[in-house]
Amino acid sequence: MRSDPLTPYGNRPMVTPIVNAVNYEYLSFDILRQITDGEIDGYTYHRDDNPTVRNVEHRIAALENAEDCIVCTSGMAACTLVFFSYLSAGDHLIIFHDTYGANYKVSLILERMGVDITWIDAEEADQIGEHVRPETKMIFLETPSNPLCKIIDIKMIRSVAEPIEAMVIVDNTFATPYHQNPLELGADLVVHSATKALGGHNDLMAGAVAGSKEHYNRLWFTRQAIGTTLDSYSAFLLDRGLKTFELRMETMSRNAQQIAELLQSQPAISRLMYPGLETHPSYKTATRQMKNGFSNMMAFDVGECEEDAKRFITALKTVWHAVSLGSTESLICIPYLTTMLYLPPERRTTFGVQTNTVRLSVGIEPFDQIATDFKQALACISKGEG
Ligand code: PLP
Repeated sequence: MRSDPLTPYGNRPMVTPIVNAVNYEYLSFDILRQITDGEIDGYTYHRDDNPTVRNVEHRIAALENAEDCIVCTSGMAACTLVFFSYLSAGDHLIIFHDTYGANYKVSLILERMGVDITWIDAEEADQIGEHVRPETKMIFLETPSNPLCKIIDIKMIRSVAEPIEAMVIVDNTFATPYHQNPLELGADLVVHSATKALGGHNDLMAGAVAGSKEHYNRLWFTRQAIGTTLDSYSAFLLDRGLKTFELRMETMSRNAQQIAELLQSQPAISRLMYPGLETHPSYKTATRQMKNGFSNMMAFDVGECEEDAKRFITALKTVWHAVSLGSTESLICIPYLTTMLYLPPERRTTFGVQTNTVRLSVGIEPFDQIATDFKQALACISKGEG
């Protein structure tokens, strides 16, 4: 038998190879059985598992202090895996208005399948006890939320979910594991759009769900059944992105804190929502449940109307006008015109987003570069230019 070309004398490559194989040779019936019984992490077919994907799953599980992690094709695939794995007709789901817009679309599918859904506002999270029922199976939340960076007390939600044995699911995309570990605060599962800060370079789409081994097995069943396993090239890029994850987050959240402090004193900016500012309505909760700072995300209102926000964004020279978040580049957008297009028009403004609200994802650029750009764009709008 010829030696393995990757490890001719037992050495291994520094980087996990991109394994593009769809299928794998069974070395024996005993190994086949061990793989199919889940006793060993072996490989048979890409839809089941892949070594490049498995490697990145272990890395994300470690970041979230989870027993295991399932990685899939996008953040929305991750949310959907969770819903499809645990909800059945007759179950009740509580979900916050302040979650990523596409969850609304998924909620329409869930309702068609017989799931009863209650939407509540993050600002009314402490009244969640009024909405739970014996058939409440799941509470799904984001904190900080997208786009308004509202903060929900995860421990408080756990205390309400506990007596009725409802699951608590936290989308941790905005906070990232650098700033918050929801499993340690009482969540059953933590969800990520790994497209964002985990990947970090605007060059891959992926989702992740981390939790116990038992949950992993159940989510794996769904992912294998519906075929949302990530491709190995994206898994490789995600793994590469994760090597600088902490460095990027440290720089991004330090920049964000300073940008928030700068914007706070600008007359054209109002309702600045950044959890690292004492003026944030849930600053104390954020301080308690977040660590190493408060993430790179913020939202604020520009001027009086949509046109003011558009003029401000148009005047920016280095901050990119684009959706998505958590990448090395600073990105800005008007959620009403972009990420919230998934919602019917009347729902887009019901929980605090306005037509002049902008969402900012601060990147790793030198702070002075971002600050100079904001200052000149603000000067343009106050002069009526832009
Ligand atoms: N969750 C949050 C908080 C998001 O911001 C997004 C996308 O912006 C998603 C989930 C969905 O992620 P993806 O675009 O990777 O499907």
